[in-house]
Amino acid sequence: MARNNIHEVWESGVGYSVDMDARTCGCRKWQMVGIPCSHAASVIIGKKEKVEDYASDYYTKKRWRETYLDGIRTVQGMPLWPRLNKLPVLPPPWRRGNPGRPSNHARRKGRNESSSSSNTKKMTREKKDHDML
Ligand SMILES: [Zn+2]
Repeated sequence: MARNNIHEVWESGVGYSVDMDARTCGCRKWQMVGIPCSHAASVIIGKKEKVEDYASDYYTKKRWRETYLDGIRTVQGMPLWPRLNKLPVLPPPWRRGNPGRPSNHARRKGRNESSSSSNTKKMTREKKDHDML
């Protein structure tokens, strides 16, 4: 415990701040899910208390009964849903060509390379013939 019922729990080199009064943890799982995370559970077990006593009461049978006390509302078929004066969901915009990287970007040539490879081959052969003569 650090202070004011706030505990520091370390797991694989990372420290988590567990607030037992606010029922929150630095990993944010406890406040999101309503069930104590492993860091909070280690504090609760260290106090020799039950982990389930710190779970949110939304998980209790009492709350479940309250939720469905009036039963479940009926859902009408899709054609009977109210129409909003908005555009329907449109297909993605049409685009020319194939997706992915364009193929017409050739490798950048070095300083001593000519702009076209076939031209280079021809010139070397001519040069060779000239040297032999
Ligand atoms: Zn945690």
